[in-house]
Amino acid sequence: MKNIPSIQATPSQPRKLAALKQAHQDWSSASNVITRLTQRLSTTLALEEQLGILAEELSDIVPFDTLTYRHRIARQEFVYSTGLGGQHRCEYRLNLEGDFYGTLTICRRQRFSEEELQGIETLIGAAIYSVRNACRYIAIEQAALTDSLTGIPNKRALDDNLLRASSLSDRHGQAYSLILVDLDHFKQVNDTYGHVAGDHLLRRVGECLERALRTSDSVYRFGGEEFAVLLPHTGEQDARDVAERIRRTVSEITVDAGGERITATASFGVATHLKGEQPEQWVARADEALYRAKQKGRNRTEVFAAIA
Ligand code: GH3
Ligand code: MG
Ligand code: MG
Repeated sequence: MKNIPSIQATPSQPRKLAALKQAHQDWSSASNVITRLTQRLSTTLALEEQLGILAEELSDIVPFDTLTYRHRIARQEFVYSTGLGGQHRCEYRLNLEGDFYGTLTICRRQRFSEEELQGIETLIGAAIYSVRNACRYIAIEQAALTDSLTGIPNKRALDDNLLRASSLSDRHGQAYSLILVDLDHFKQVNDTYGHVAGDHLLRRVGECLERALRTSDSVYRFGGEEFAVLLPHTGEQDARDVAERIRRTVSEITVDAGGERITATASFGVATHLKGEQPEQWVARADEALYRAKQKGRNRTEVFAAIA
C-alpha cells in the first residue's frame, strides 16, 4: 500500500474568510461594469453570443450605431455585425500575447471623444481573454471536422452535411447530388513512388476538387484516397456533367517525384437524393455507381439512376 501523506489542517483564518465572503458579495452583486461584463462573457464560449454581450454592455456606456467584428478562423471568415451606419469609426485589432484575434470596428454619426475611446478600450481589454477562448474553441471545433493531410473537411463534416442535405431535400424538394471520387490504382503510386509522393498527390487532388467547384458545393476527404462532393440544387444530369468536368481536371494533375512525373485518374459515382432516403442509403447508392465505374475500366463516371 502507498503511503499517503496526511494533510495537516491549519487553524481557520477568520479574517481571510470574512474577506472572501465580502469579495463574493461584491462579485455576485456585479455592481461594476467590468465585473458584470467578464461574468457574463464567462457564461458562454460562443463567439457570437460574447460579441452580443460586449455590444450590449458597451452601448450602455458609449452609444454607437454599428459594431462589427471580423476574423478569419481556421480558414473561415467569421463576421458579426450589429446596427447600421455611422461615418465616424474607431477600429481595434485584437492582439493578445502575440496572437491576433480579429478586428473590432465601432461606428456612429457623432465623433468619439477621447474619454469615450478610452472607455471602449477598457471594455475591449476586459473582453479580450474571453474572445480569445471563443476563437480557440471555434478553431478546435473546426479541426475536428477537417482532414489534417489535405486541409479539406473530413468524413465527420460530410456526415453532418449529408444529414442536413437529406432533410432539406425532403422538406423543400430541393435536388441534392453526391459524387464519390476514388483514385484509380493509388496503391501502385505508393508502391512505386513512396508514401510521401502519394500524400503529395492526395493534397493536389484535394486542391483541384476545391478549385473546380462552385462556392456552394463542398468537398470532403471521405477516406484514404476517396473524396466526396456534395452539390446543392443539382439534379442527376448536372451532377454527372460536374463529375465529368472534375474527372478531366484530375487527369491533368501532374506531381514531380524526384524527376519523375506522377499522374492520376479517378472514378466517379453519382447519386441524387431520393425523397425519404437516409444518408447511409444515399451514400451506398453513390458507392454502387462508383463500383460500376471501377468495373467498367476506371477513369469514368457512373450514375445510380433514380429511375432505371
Ligand atoms: P482502385 O483503382 O481499385 O481504387 O485501386 P486502389 O489501389 O486505388 O485501391 P486500394 O483500395 O487497393 O488501395 C488504396 C490505397 O490508398 C492503399 C493505401 O495505401 C492508399 N492510401 C490510403 N490513404 C492514404 C494516405 O493518407 N496517404 C497515402 N500516401 N496513401 C494512402
Ligand atoms: Mg478506395
Ligand atoms: Mg482507389
